[in-house]
Amino acid sequence: MTHPHSDGPLVEMVASDISRALRDVRTQIEKAVQDAGRPADAVTLVAVSKFHPAAAVEAALLAGQRVFGENRVQEAAEKFPSFREQYPDLRLHLIGGLQTNKAREAVRIADVIESLDRPSLSDALAKAADQEGRMPDLLIEVNTGDEPQKFGVLRENADEFIRQSRARFGEKLRGLMCIPPAGEDPVPHFRFLRSLADQHGLPVRSMGMSADYPQAIAEGATLVRVGTAIFGARPSGVAAG
Ligand SMILES: *Cc1c(COP(=O)(O)O)cnc(C)c1O
Repeated sequence: MTHPHSDGPLVEMVASDISRALRDVRTQIEKAVQDAGRPADAVTLVAVSKFHPAAAVEAALLAGQRVFGENRVQEAAEKFPSFREQYPDLRLHLIGGLQTNKAREAVRIADVIESLDRPSLSDALAKAADQEGRMPDLLIEVNTGDEPQKFGVLRENADEFIRQSRARFGEKLRGLMCIPPAGEDPVPHFRFLRSLADQHGLPVRSMGMSADYPQAIAEGATLVRVGTAIFGARPSGVAAG
């Protein structure tokens, strides 16, 4: 079945590329999971489709992928709802820094919000959840590199923010997410996130992207967020986070 946004032959070609790339990534994930001696279902692949058209999402859906990540609420709201009817098991993760004025739309469309990082956003999400009558699962984004320009709660504030969020959101708070600094060895960041999640009894660790997801799996990732390795390069100048 063809999605309204897709267009013929180009999509066919893109679709086979995406399907092959997905297979490769899944194989790498399986291998990393096995090497780490973890259970086969320990890791969920989040296919990051930001900046790629709905046709690319459709190709991934046809190849069996069901969990997707988007950075921007608006883009996700335009791309995803039309697929929900056809694929009721589709799961949408919002993985980008979230403005409070987008909280309501985010709560309406997301299954998981991975970027909770400050009390004002907690307030906005709680209010939105009341208005919408639903609440996505939540992950706290930790700025493990303490980079001033980045989203995420700073390391020194993480314990307290996790405790507050746990008290406020209960079981809806599922875990932690990080984006290690570009150009640094990501492993110490993965280890930090892992141990912080363990200390707080949080089961979900979202870490690892195209360049480093096998390493993240070795360090205990339960979600890996992979874009480029599945959908190809994004327009230049578009960075992660
Ligand atoms: C874009 C993005 C990704 C995917 O990055 P790739 O290197 O393309 O795999 C993962 N996580 C976040 C938060 C992103 O913004």
